[in-house]
Amino acid sequence: MQYRELGKTGLNVSILGFGASPLGGAFGTIDEQEGIRAVHTAIDLGVNFIDVSPFYGVTKAESVLGKALREIPRDRYYLATKVGRYDDTEFDFSAQRVIASVDESLARLNVDMIDLIQCHDIEFGSLDQIVDETIPALRRVQETGKVRFIGISGLPLKIFTYVTKRAELDTILSYCHYALNNTSLEEITPALKEKNLGIINASALGMGLLTEQGPPDWHPASVDMKAACAEAARYCRSKGVNIAQLALQFSTSNPDLATTLVGIASPEQITTNIRWIDEPLDQDLLREVQAILAPIHNKSWPTGKPENDDIDLTS
Ligand code: NAD
Repeated sequence: MQYRELGKTGLNVSILGFGASPLGGAFGTIDEQEGIRAVHTAIDLGVNFIDVSPFYGVTKAESVLGKALREIPRDRYYLATKVGRYDDTEFDFSAQRVIASVDESLARLNVDMIDLIQCHDIEFGSLDQIVDETIPALRRVQETGKVRFIGISGLPLKIFTYVTKRAELDTILSYCHYALNNTSLEEITPALKEKNLGIINASALGMGLLTEQGPPDWHPASVDMKAACAEAARYCRSKGVNIAQLALQFSTSNPDLATTLVGIASPEQITTNIRWIDEPLDQDLLREVQAILAPIHNKSWPTGKPENDDIDLTS
């Protein structure tokens, strides 16, 4: 396993991070013991960064992860969770709610400190509230030692530019914007690096788009995007390669991205993924697959409040 510095935090994180949303059933029901074994296997194989949220499975992912972490010395992993998103349509970024939320997560996760607390999917809230109320509240929590670092997460890239211009932060978590089908995160990477922010890249498999089994029913991509990714997967298979391997190798090979999170549901998945990223990337196959995906390159989907996807960044 390789490791990279997460911005200015001093955390040296594994280039492949453990995405815990599947522990809450985000991609279908999973066996809890299997999920717990997946966490233990990941840490034994060198993964040291775990990302979760109270939103995943409406607290279930944090509870299952907490059971897994009870058996592991606290210095073997860095733990990231989130505040502000609690269900599909339930958001609350108020100071009072996020302060209480940290305590609730600490209890579920069976730890007395969270390494990174992130405001979850801020495009669904008021970005000015995030700057003026939520982040200052989390800074006060930081003074108590319950959290070490503070970040934000979401989909539209403009939210990162807007908030990082106005608030002091440690990390950003972007998803579905640096993978085989979409590399637009690169457009804001230089500005983020200039501020020494740690960049966390999530959903290297496009939330299932870049897998042999394909995405879950709830996946928001267009029919065209799903069809192009399915065609790319078929092409990889015809060459004897699993598209998930190419996808993980591609995302983890970018040195600007401290860690790439992949959602994990079983010990076998994490073992396979770690083996895959240690193998050399097939550059010819990458070019061929990117050509298949060219018609949908950098395409995404609308999410959150429309005004947060259409911010005037000139001021
Ligand atoms: P992903 O792209 O990592 O895909 C996850 C899916 O791929 C799951 O169904 C998983 O079982 C499957 N998978 C994993 N390894 C595989 C393999 N070798 N072969 C085939 N399938 C495989 O999507 P994700 O889980 O949404 O993203 C990763 C993590 O990033 C999440 O768990 C979460 O921690 C984080 N995330 C955060 C945000 C946010 O903060 N807004 C958004 C998206 C993701």
